[in-house]
Amino acid sequence: MYTCINCGIEVEELYRRYSPSVLKVLKCGNCGNLADKYIEYDPVIVLVDLVLLEKPAYRHLLYNSNFQSYWKLMVVLLLGESFRAWSIFKNYKIDQDSDDHQNYLQNNKFDSERSFYILLAHTALSLGAFVLAMIISTEIRWLIMGVRPQKYKISDLFHALIVGGCAKLLGLLGVIWQYVAPELFYVLIHGYTMLCLLTAYSVICESGRTGSLIGLSSGLIAYNYVSNLISWFPLIITNTTETDDVT
Ligand SMILES: [Zn+2]
Repeated sequence: MYTCINCGIEVEELYRRYSPSVLKVLKCGNCGNLADKYIEYDPVIVLVDLVLLEKPAYRHLLYNSNFQSYWKLMVVLLLGESFRAWSIFKNYKIDQDSDDHQNYLQNNKFDSERSFYILLAHTALSLGAFVLAMIISTEIRWLIMGVRPQKYKISDLFHALIVGGCAKLLGLLGVIWQYVAPELFYVLIHGYTMLCLLTAYSVICESGRTGSLIGLSSGLIAYNYVSNLISWFPLIITNTTETDDVT
C-alpha cells in the first residue's frame, strides 16, 4: 500500500503505466489531488521541499519512495554531530591551555582520536535516549487516547526521526566556515532541527502542533537528562590529557 501525500490516506496504486513511455499519475479518491506528484519529479526538488518543511515531501520519502538507507543516514548523523562537538571541545581546550599544552595536543594524534570516540559514545547515548523517549511517549499517548493511526509503525517513526534529525548536520557548516558567533548559529540550527522533527513526527503520528510538541518535548527532556547524566564523559578526555601531560 502507498500513501496519498496530501491527505495521508492509504491508496492501492500511485500511477498506471499504459506503455513503457506513458505513465499516468492517479488521483486520490479521498482528496481528489494527485496521490503522489513527486514520482515524476527530480529527487533534488523533493530535497528542496524537504528543506522547506513540506509535509507532502516527507510523506513521499517515508511512505512511497524506495529509500532504505536510513541506517547510513543515522551513522552520518552520529559522526557529524560528534565531530562538531569534538571540534568545539578541541578549540576550547587550545584556547584555555598553555603554549606547551597546545603543542602537546597538536602533536598527540592518538589522544585527539580517543577524545573523538568518547564524544561519539556520548552523542550515541544521548540521541538513543531521545529516540527511545519519543517512541515510549507516543505509545503511552495511543494508550491514553485509546486509538492509534491505522498505518502507524514504530519503524516509520524511527525513520522519520532520523530524517528530521539530519538538519543537525547543518551545524558542520559552522565548523568549516568558523563563524564569529558559533553559539547563535547553533541555536538557529537547533531551532530548525526542531521544526524538521515536528514536521516528520506529525506526518507519522497524524497529529497537530500540540500533540507533536508534547511528543517532541518528552524526547528533548530525555536527551538533556541523559546528556547531563553522562556529562562526565568529556571530563575523561580532560583528565586523561592532564594525567598524560604530568607523566
Ligand atoms: Zn488524498
